[in-house]
Amino acid sequence: MELSKRQERIIEIVKEAGPITGENIAEKLSLTRATLRPDLAILTMAGFLDARPRVGYFFTGKTGSELLTEQIKKFKVQQYQHVPIVVKESVSVYDAISTMFLEDVGTLFVVDDHSCLTGVLSRKDLLRASIGQQDLNSVPVHIIMTRMPNITICRREDLLIDVAMKLINKQIDGIPVVRDTEAGLEVIGRITKTTITKVFVELITNDQV
Ligand code: ADP
Repeated sequence: MELSKRQERIIEIVKEAGPITGENIAEKLSLTRATLRPDLAILTMAGFLDARPRVGYFFTGKTGSELLTEQIKKFKVQQYQHVPIVVKESVSVYDAISTMFLEDVGTLFVVDDHSCLTGVLSRKDLLRASIGQQDLNSVPVHIIMTRMPNITICRREDLLIDVAMKLINKQIDGIPVVRDTEAGLEVIGRITKTTITKVFVELITNDQV
């Protein structure tokens, strides 16, 4: 987060003189308390300053990068998950390839009649099947998919950073977000390497990630 000159000056004053009231900070800057209110709110919300009633503002001692790290570690899957693209187990490899193109995704999740996860299809799974001698219209995807229980999954309440680490450690492009149901693990979303890249870019270009 980029601080304005005035906000940086406020931090300096609080570092030197804190705990200090808003009134006294305003005095030191020859401004009114009302003018300072938005800056103090921003600095408190961002975690640079803390405020105690009847005591005043004090410096938390945290640097910008520490605060950013703290913020990122709180990101949850549910804030960033995208709609999952799924196919049924009986769908042909040919149709799965068409779906991948039409939906513009790199990973398809395979589900049973209850929308519960049974497999994953990556681009390379479909390529591998395509270079064999088989008729792609007559091979169902359940023959070639990576199947349960060997699928890496995540849940809505998981931390995004943990899912990002799974993507790296397992060397995969996408992870389904699932919910427990009586019939099995219902697929309700997806987190992919693109999701993580978007979060990274938004962090740099927009404070409101
Ligand atoms: P690609 O193979 O196109 O590079 P991935 O790296 O995502 O794409 O997939 C590598 C292998 O891992 C594929 O065989 C795929 O079926 C499997 N795979 C993909 N996602 C998962 C997952 N979430 N859990 C387990 N296996 C997966």
